[in-house]
Amino acid sequence: MTDAARRDELAVSLAEVRERIVRACVAAGREPDAVTLVAVTKTYPVSDVVLLAGLGVTDVGENRDQEAGPKIEAARAAGATPRCHFIGQLQRNKAKSVAGYADVIETVDSVRLVTALDRAAADRPEPLGVLVQVSIDGDVARGGAVEDDLWRISDAVAATTTLRLGGVMAVAPREWDPDRAFEQLAVRSAGLVERHPVATAISAGMSGDLEAAVRHGATHVRIGTSLLGMRNLLR
Ligand SMILES: *Cc1c(COP(=O)(O)O)cnc(C)c1O
Repeated sequence: MTDAARRDELAVSLAEVRERIVRACVAAGREPDAVTLVAVTKTYPVSDVVLLAGLGVTDVGENRDQEAGPKIEAARAAGATPRCHFIGQLQRNKAKSVAGYADVIETVDSVRLVTALDRAAADRPEPLGVLVQVSIDGDVARGGAVEDDLWRISDAVAATTTLRLGGVMAVAPREWDPDRAFEQLAVRSAGLVERHPVATAISAGMSGDLEAAVRHGATHVRIGTSLLGMRNLLR
């Protein structure tokens, strides 16, 4: 496919996704621009990041350091400077690398990772944004903080000068009704905001459930498939 054809294809799906977000905001009685679209570009080439940035996308999401580092660097070299959200499980030994190019880490779920990121972000000109990933069903194998860990982790982030606590992130458990999942996330977010008033961000909602997320106060939705197409699972 030529760049121009891909650009047209992305422009159409971007308009559709933006329309879904606006409609969901209006239905929820929220401002139409209350929600930031994070375009999840994982498995897609740097050319798509550049095209999306050209179409006005301000934020992209990536989930693997080996893929994201070179891709974001190449996009920036090509003049595209979207904010980069790291949305994959992050091992502590990758903290230094990710802190070198990401603007926000959405998947912070342990104090040990906070300690590693604090060290990794020491030479950054600006603090590294952090969202605490919350486990909605308590299945920690898939990542995310349970119960009191949210307090321990958020207090640890707030105590640093290198990290900036932004709020919470979650993925709705597959077997759950997304409304029920995001309702619980909203409760956890309200508790966090009471303790840390600046931490108002709620990253929730993907291609299949963005409407439910917006109904329950999402400030960021992370959209891959609806924007870029089905990912090849073999990649
Ligand atoms: C891949 C991914 C998304 C995007 O999912 P789609 O269903 O393709 O929109 C969102 N959030 C996380 C954490 C992901 O890994």
